[in-house]
Amino acid sequence: MATSIAPAGHPAAGSNIEVFAYLVRNAGMTILVDTGMGDGNAFLDDLYRANRTSIDAALVIAGASRADIDIVVNSHLHFDDCGNNHLFPGIPVYMQSREHDAARMPRYTVEGWIAPEGVLVHKVDGDCEIAPGVTLLFTPDHTPGHQSLAVETPSGPVIAGAQLAYTAAEFEAGGDPAEAHDGMVDIYYASIRRLKSLQPARVFFSHDRNEWQPSA
Ligand SMILES: [Zn+2]
Repeated sequence: MATSIAPAGHPAAGSNIEVFAYLVRNAGMTILVDTGMGDGNAFLDDLYRANRTSIDAALVIAGASRADIDIVVNSHLHFDDCGNNHLFPGIPVYMQSREHDAARMPRYTVEGWIAPEGVLVHKVDGDCEIAPGVTLLFTPDHTPGHQSLAVETPSGPVIAGAQLAYTAAEFEAGGDPAEAHDGMVDIYYASIRRLKSLQPARVFFSHDRNEWQPSA
């Protein structure tokens, strides 16, 4: 959805950042996981100088269009995950209540991007089946109300882990404490352990084009 260079002060300062969203089609439902980085915020535009792929262009690549989307999921509410919620008025946008509360903290996100006029916020608490075979998993770690999305398949769940871990390698290693939210290191490790205990067939991440698969 976007690439940019991590600015000074960012944990990955100087390196290339990629931002991914995920499209899920299952049992007749089409679900978009995250809406990418918003634009029009002068501070962020200047800091990150993001090179964006529009949602519409990304959906075309996936053989879909905005009109196909039944449900939007925000894994969490940082500015690079909920920045285009405004493109989906009238469609339920699922987020965790705890994340919605956390997003009011100073410098957490661009608050106005979460629920501009017409956006239907649908708050949930904990795990929640949102469509047949599709479940939101409460995976706090990177943020207080982070969630992942699991799709049942015959070979095990396929999971949009989002920013549960920054990379597939970090997930494989069981975690990197630098990626946990302040004071949440134990919860972060527990969320990764829990996801692995589900024996996923594949896990995808917000900032890594590599997917995780169990070693043979
Ligand atoms: Zn984030």
